[in-house]
Amino acid sequence: MPPGRKNSVSLILDAPAASATQTLFGLNHQQLTSLVQEFSVPEYRARQLSDALYRQWVEDLDEVSTWPKSLRESLDAAGYRVGRPRIVEAFRSVDGTERYLIASSDGQTVETVWMPEGDDGEEGDGSEAQNDFHRATICVSSQIGCAVNCQFCLTAKLGIVRNLAAGEIAGQVVSVLKRQKFEVGKQRINLVFMGMGEPFLNYDEFMAAVRLLVEEVGISESRMTVSTSGIVPGILRFAQEKTRPKLAISLNAPNDAIRSGIMPITRKWKINEVIEAVRQVPLRPKEKITFEYVLLGGVNDRVSDADEVVRLARKANLPLKVNLIVWNPGPGMDFHMSDAETVAKFQQRLRSSGIPAYIRRPRGRDIYAACGQLKRMTELTTLAQ
Ligand code: SF4
Repeated sequence: MPPGRKNSVSLILDAPAASATQTLFGLNHQQLTSLVQEFSVPEYRARQLSDALYRQWVEDLDEVSTWPKSLRESLDAAGYRVGRPRIVEAFRSVDGTERYLIASSDGQTVETVWMPEGDDGEEGDGSEAQNDFHRATICVSSQIGCAVNCQFCLTAKLGIVRNLAAGEIAGQVVSVLKRQKFEVGKQRINLVFMGMGEPFLNYDEFMAAVRLLVEEVGISESRMTVSTSGIVPGILRFAQEKTRPKLAISLNAPNDAIRSGIMPITRKWKINEVIEAVRQVPLRPKEKITFEYVLLGGVNDRVSDADEVVRLARKANLPLKVNLIVWNPGPGMDFHMSDAETVAKFQQRLRSSGIPAYIRRPRGRDIYAACGQLKRMTELTTLAQ
């Protein structure tokens, strides 16, 4: 548990899953069909297995009740395991946010966050029909660590450890839904791929996870948002996808000069190139592109910066909105938070110029709920012991 956080609750749950020789969770219907064919059983067994993995959320082959014991034993003997990542530690904030360390079979952990009342990120994006946008949101990781090296982000300090497989990405969602006793189809959920990692640097596995979540778990892609730091080739591929989440660009600066200082990726792809790529994404009716903007005191939060964002947005001429995020401090980062008055002025400047701008409320501050904070703090705590 992070030190000095009296109101947080830490719960040790399961041990990491034992290393599985062959993991079933993450296989799509076609792959499961090929698998059951190897065992010389009819195709409908693949559908039963898919239901068990993605609708009933079983954790062990023994729980696949629609299968005869002999078939379960055959798979087990061949080294197959469900292999879904497991929640190994949970931190509960006073505001209801829960943050988890979720372990893969190799013991590596990522962070996943459950926000019972949403994160306000969906506000104003055209999806808040019936004004019910305050619904639960899960923030999902796509890589262990990250190579993008945004200067304000604690995940960057971990470096890149490895990509997550599709089953490890979708498995975070299923593990959290199961813990929350969530009923897909009866309750609404938002997924934001804004946790650890840059999804578009793990494009194939990320999109395979999206398809699993849509086709097998049953969550609509219109309830999902992916955030990218501006990986242009990834955005161009994304533009070709039939099934895709909504798109958010982690902008964080009004021009390339400021952005290069806090997001070195800007030296590879300039803001204009990113926006040009975003233009290729065919938007659904009412869909908006989100510009995420982390406010850093004295760096990018001046009124003149807001005015430049307005000019940028007008030039982009896209249906868009801006999410203003108040930066969460962390160890080893030489920034400071924007004060409330500065944040309000920045928002007002955008709004008065006709740019929809929303302030994302900080969640779970007492449990290090900003990207990478929990894993990094856990590592620092471990090192200090
Ligand atoms: S903000 Fe996102 S893209 Fe940037 S270093 Fe952190 S995890 Fe990577």
